Order: sequence, then structure tokens, then C-alpha cells
Amino acid sequence: MAAPEGTDPMLAFFRKNLETMPHPKRIEYLQRKLRGIVQYAYKHSPAIRRRLDSVGLKPRDIQRVKDLEKLPITKKSDLIELQKKDPPFGGFEGVPIHELRRIYASPGPLYEPGEMDYEEIGWAQAMVAAGFRSGDIAVNTFSYHMVPFALNMLDNSLFKVGCITVPAGIGNTEQQVHLLKNLKASAFCGTPSFLLNLAEKAGEMGLDLRKDVNLRVGLVAAEMVPESLRSSLEERFGMTIRQSYGTADIGCLGYECMARTGMHVPDDKLVEIVDPLTGKQLPFDTPGEVVGTTFNRVYPLIRFGTGDLSLLTKSPCPCGRTSPRLVKILGRIDQATKVRGLFVHPGQVDDIGSRHPEIARCQVVLRRAEHKDLLILRIEPRQGLSAREGLKEEVEKSIRDVLKLRGDIEFVSPGTIPPEAKKIEDQRTWE
Ligand SMILES: [Zn+2]
Repeated sequence: MAAPEGTDPMLAFFRKNLETMPHPKRIEYLQRKLRGIVQYAYKHSPAIRRRLDSVGLKPRDIQRVKDLEKLPITKKSDLIELQKKDPPFGGFEGVPIHELRRIYASPGPLYEPGEMDYEEIGWAQAMVAAGFRSGDIAVNTFSYHMVPFALNMLDNSLFKVGCITVPAGIGNTEQQVHLLKNLKASAFCGTPSFLLNLAEKAGEMGLDLRKDVNLRVGLVAAEMVPESLRSSLEERFGMTIRQSYGTADIGCLGYECMARTGMHVPDDKLVEIVDPLTGKQLPFDTPGEVVGTTFNRVYPLIRFGTGDLSLLTKSPCPCGRTSPRLVKILGRIDQATKVRGLFVHPGQVDDIGSRHPEIARCQVVLRRAEHKDLLILRIEPRQGLSAREGLKEEVEKSIRDVLKLRGDIEFVSPGTIPPEAKKIEDQRTWE
């Protein structure tokens, strides 16, 4: 894994003073930012003012992170509805329209106000954590049309880091392979699947990915990268790949560092994990909906509900960054089922299965007994493999690790779980 000479990739930061703040100082810092944005938005964004007014709050009622619970969550569907009533931005913009540089359009349709000067640091932090350095030639293969991600967020962040950007956009795979080769591009921004397309196309063109292509680092986003795909791409290109997470509305909400222990929350965002039904914050290490608050005055989204299911951890990270980490995006919250107060997502069931090569198929079955939820993992062992000794205990441990719940194991004979079976079979009744 090549690193720029003389730099330890573990010890590079974009804003070291922010990224390594001790926990109490970080809370104090974030709460100061929070108070600032709530006050600003109440004054300048009619939509935010209406949201506070609707629950009888004044900006001074929002002092601490915990106080955010008093505010309703804004979902993407709410934004779409509010924009229809009050075009173009539903009153969420924090500056008059003539002070904008651009207006972006995302599917929905949803319009986003584009600031004159891009001041967010999350994506730049993500790039440095992923190994991007000043002087890197970076291909940005996200779409530059209409949407804010490539043109505003990434292009400006590459500039902040000191990279030279090739605004490649999407598609034109063959031409993009030529770009990589001719420009000796060292950094890649795009989806993991597009990077795979580039690898395949380069192979068809008779190129050697390690000799003819110079990619050293990649920052992927917009889809979670399966670990098998990541390691295969890293191996084929001889590069490191780190993933990041965010939305077009609110920007970066998480990024991986070299230690790959989850996605650090950038220092210009506040991320809560909440129960989507009550809006109450959940403790660390408990899955719930990712809700983000940005300190961006041009588009001050406060309590934006992403609809994604994840959990935050604050265990120390060897990289030295002290911000909490989104462990993984587990899936969409509307596909999750609540068991003993915790969300369980079909993707987590697959995760348990993939940890044990002996498991051909598995399925979670939920039942009720004595007013309690019972979670049973039904396991179909691979043909010819019997459930060896110790497997039951190992799978029970995986259930605890992945779901944070205890579960029982039921081994069934091959062919019992049909391929189209639901990952979570909810048989609970409450009469
Ligand atoms: Zn880290």
C-alpha cells in the first residue's frame, strides 16, 4: 500500500485540532455550533422558524444535543412536500436567493440552494483520511450535472486538499481508462461499481492495472462497498479504498480512516441515532435512524432524517480521531423490524450468515412467548456439512455481536428455507 514518502497515512488529518478534540471539548464545540445555527436559522430560514414555532420552541430552548429531541425530524419526503407548497426550497434556504451561486436539482424533485463559497469540511476530511494528498491527480467520476455532489461538494473539497481534479463525470468508461493511464491519476472518487467497470474495461484493453494505471487511493460513496469487492479492487489496482457516507441534502455524515473501524462523523455535522417513531435519541452502540444536523447557513437542515439505519460507537480509534463513528449503514429503516426495542434489519441476518462458512441459508424467526419477543435464527447447514460442535455457540456470539440481542439457534435440514424466504419472518401476535 503505497503512501506518499515520509508521511504516515495513519497520522494525517485535514483539521487536526478539530479531529483530535477530547470528548468533552467536542461536545462543547458542537453545542456552541448548534446554538449558533439554530439562532441563525430561526432568523433567516422561514421553514426552520415554522418548525420551532410548531412545537412552541424558541432558539434559546436548544442549548444541548439532548434538546434536539424537542424538534420534529425533517424527512426527505417532508422536504419534497414543503418545496411544492413554497418553491423552490420550501423556505429552508438561509440566505436570499440572489446570494446563491447555483441551484441544484436532485430526483424527487428536490432543489438545493448552492452557496457562494463552499465551507463544509466533511468531504475534505474524508479525502485526507482516505490518503488523498496535495498534488494528487484525482478523477471525480460522479455526475457533474444538476446534482450538488460532484460539482459542489467533491470538486471543492479536492481543491481544499490540494488535489488536481479531472472532472470526469459518469460513463465513457473507455475514455476514462485513457484518462487514468495518460494523466497518471493517483486518486479516484466514485462508486465501487464504477471502479470495477474501469478495472474490467482496462483488462479488455489489454492494460495491466498495476503497471499502466497509477491509482493509489480511492474514496467511494453513494453505495456501501462489499468487503469482498473492496479487497479485490485494492489488490487488482494496488490501491487503498475508503468509503464515506452522506446525502446530497446534508453532505458528508461519515468517513473511514486508515484504521477502517467505521465512519467518523465529520466535525461540521451533528449526528444523532434515534428511534424514528419517537424521535428520541438512542444510546451508543444501539441501531436506529441516522439523523443529521448541519451548520451550513445557506442550507441549514436541522434534524434531517436520512431513513438509514446505523449505530454510533465512541470506542477509541487507533487513528487518533476522537469523533464517534457510524459503524456501518445497515439498510433502510423502513425495512427494519423492532425486536425487544432494538431494530433488526435483513442485511444484518445476511451478515451473521456470511460470518460462518458452514451456513448455507439462514433466517430470523420472531415469536412471542409470555409477553416477550423470542428471536430464533434458523440455520440450514451446507450440504454434507453437519452442524459441528461449537458452531452453535459461535453463531450465538455472532447474533449478539451483530444484533446486540440474544437469540436461539434452530438447525434445519437442507431445503427447508426456500431461496425466496424472508430474511426476517415475523410470527409475533399480540392478542
Ligand atoms: Zn479512525
